[in-house]
Amino acid sequence: MTKRIAILGSTGSIGTNALRVIDALGDDYEVAALTAHNNVKLLAEQVRKYKPKIAVVTNPEKIEEFKKLIDGQRVAVSATAKQAIQETDIDIVIAAIVGAAGLEAILAAAKAGKILAIANKEPLVIAGALLTKTAKETGAKILPVDSEHSAVFQAMQAGDAKEVNRIILTASGGPFRGATKEQIKNATIEQALAHPTWNMGKKITVDSATMMNKALEIIEAKWLFGMPVEKIEVLVHPESIIHSMVEFVDGSIIAQMSGPDMCLPIQYALTFPHRVKGITKHLRLEEIGKLTFERPDMEVFKSLKIGYAVAKTGGTAAAVFNAANEAAVKEFLEGKIKFVNIVEIIEYCLDKHKIKTDATLNDLLSADNWARNEVKKWQNRTT
Ligand code: NDP
Ligand code: MG
Repeated sequence: MTKRIAILGSTGSIGTNALRVIDALGDDYEVAALTAHNNVKLLAEQVRKYKPKIAVVTNPEKIEEFKKLIDGQRVAVSATAKQAIQETDIDIVIAAIVGAAGLEAILAAAKAGKILAIANKEPLVIAGALLTKTAKETGAKILPVDSEHSAVFQAMQAGDAKEVNRIILTASGGPFRGATKEQIKNATIEQALAHPTWNMGKKITVDSATMMNKALEIIEAKWLFGMPVEKIEVLVHPESIIHSMVEFVDGSIIAQMSGPDMCLPIQYALTFPHRVKGITKHLRLEEIGKLTFERPDMEVFKSLKIGYAVAKTGGTAAAVFNAANEAAVKEFLEGKIKFVNIVEIIEYCLDKHKIKTDATLNDLLSADNWARNEVKKWQNRTT
């Protein structure tokens, strides 16, 4: 039977790759809903090509422009990503919005019991407890798209969850691997965006440079696999060929390998539990020659150390950790703060925050909001 798909964030790096995957999968997969924020030109092109039932423009200032661009097309236009899920008969939701902005729609998809292919890690970081609980209640299936978590999920098929000894999340190390604190203090936007192996959206590329991305991924893994933080390790692997590993109690380590191409994890989430031929170029290991591994430097990349602490603390801490980072990365990309300030700001917010355990959705949203305001205050403090 044809699977009907909603792509939340169809104009982004993951969103456009998801459409390429769906193109290659053929008639069994149909695009039923698409959402975008600013890039209404690309969304209009996608509407013409895929003819979804509903198109969502989440930035209200862009709706009129979008309506003009799709003049004559038979498509319902809406303003919230949540509606894309609720008003169409969707089987699979690909969550590919960037940041906390994707939380509301992901929660709606979990409540509606959908298959949820999640690339958008920030909502899992903020509200992992609530999301996984909701999914359990409704039968919604959460499948990872993030390459490390897809790798772990694939490796997990080799044994029972109870037999897992540790999860080893690999990290490329980003553009500043091996650098000293002094060398990266004043890194420019251009340097931070020059990722050695992956081509991604700007926010996650900066997160890779600070290694905040890996810190967020530790928390993401905790919720996706119900694993204690002590059993989640980070290993730097600059070639980005092994996307992560699972060590079982007998000492066997199962690794998932492929080139650095998000189309493979996107496709696996769509076709799971089956595998089909895809568009990702197959590896020739003899051309790669060798794979190397290093311990991450938690003094230079302090975000990792903080990430572990936040993952253990739980409650509203992760919401503050994520929101402070989102706001700081935005300021960095606008040229308002230095590279080194990103993690300083995160620490500043976490130090000031009074953590609430057993947090409700409202508590998490207020903590997110509070942290974003604190980031603004931090700036006023320094100017
Ligand atoms: P991009 O910046 O390339 O795309 C983001 C998408 O979200 C766009 O469609 C954008 O719309 C939309 N968007 C932006 N702001 C909002 C908002 N406020 N409300 C609703 N929609 C919004 O990001 P990526 O594709 O790189 O990343 C998406 C998510 O996937 C992130 O959470 C990231 O961490 C995760 N991820 C990404 C990987 C990658 O390879 N790129 C790998 C693993 C995880 P528009 O363009 O129209 O403004
Ligand atoms: Mg990742």
